[in-house]
Amino acid sequence: MAFDPSSLDQLILLLGQVTLVILAGLLVLGLVLAILIAFSIRTGRMVFPRLFLAGMALVEGVIRALCGLLGIEDRELTEFMIRLHNRLNQAKFDSIPAKNKAIFLPQCLRSAKCPAHLTPEGLICQRCMQCGIGRSIDQLEGQGYRVHIVPGSTFIKRIVRAEKPKAIIGVGCLMEVKEGIMLADRLGLVAMGVITLKDGCIETLVNWTDLIDLASGGKEDLEVRPSVSAAE
Ligand code: SF4
Repeated sequence: MAFDPSSLDQLILLLGQVTLVILAGLLVLGLVLAILIAFSIRTGRMVFPRLFLAGMALVEGVIRALCGLLGIEDRELTEFMIRLHNRLNQAKFDSIPAKNKAIFLPQCLRSAKCPAHLTPEGLICQRCMQCGIGRSIDQLEGQGYRVHIVPGSTFIKRIVRAEKPKAIIGVGCLMEVKEGIMLADRLGLVAMGVITLKDGCIETLVNWTDLIDLASGGKEDLEVRPSVSAAE
């Protein structure tokens, strides 16, 4: 059979047109999602959360670039995605009994004068009341949670392997929470993230009211805006 060069040209042209249409579609999708995300962040109203997650999986780079053009900083977008993840996990998280759930607090939340000693399960709080952990841990444990104060992710992995919780709440700085949620997703755990109000390695802060509300399932809709008020 004779080869027809014009057919090949037509095929290449068609492929080029299809590629252009797909790229244009992804760009439009990215633009629409970037506008919706900017709207959600600025107004505190989260619209179409599942669409955001699907869109981020498809065109995260495009959305991040367009959000940047719309004045949304990378940090704001990451915080938004963590809150979105919490929102989508909330019902599943609430359906799991507290005895099957663990809370991981970073050791940087404690006072610089903390008398607690490190054990394989993390730090054991002495309830000296020099930090918010001592003032809140009994309330969280009273709900049935196992609460661990840990120096890092190595402890979390070991404790998860040993205790096999079905769901966890992880508290930490933005990147710790982001990476912790990704790890928990890979391990098949239902994870909720709470971002600390102040970064750093010593005497950081968390909004304890938000954390207790999340743990008790009393606050169905975590707000889109970042936490700003210390509950200490
Ligand atoms: S309340 Fe607990 S965690 Fe906080 S400083 Fe005292 S012993 Fe350490």
